[in-house]
Amino acid sequence: MKKIVILISIVILAYSCEITSEYMVNQEKCTDCGKCYRACPNDMIDREIYKIEGPDTFFVAKIRTNRCVGCGKCQDACVKNNGVENSAIIEK
Ligand code: SF4
Ligand code: SF4
Repeated sequence: MKKIVILISIVILAYSCEITSEYMVNQEKCTDCGKCYRACPNDMIDREIYKIEGPDTFFVAKIRTNRCVGCGKCQDACVKNNGVENSAIIEK
């Protein structure tokens, strides 16, 4: 019984200790190049619909900020691919 209580406590603690990212995506600048998706070691970046225009659907990156560990690899990838001026991943 004691082991079960300890196990449940660990699970509750793990879920309550969410890490908040220091990064976000400027969706106006995101070109959906995919570099950040591949760079994230924790698979914390989603691809979401930005807008639909006629038959075309445009996607952008979105960081799952509540689980991001803030390593910055996504920003490095975006800067490397798009340059500092056009980087879509910015610090909050
Ligand atoms: S690397 Fe930058 S431009 Fe490319 S998908 Fe990610 S946020 Fe968008
Ligand atoms: S900061 Fe690191 S963990 Fe967070 S989304 Fe970017 S690459 Fe992933």
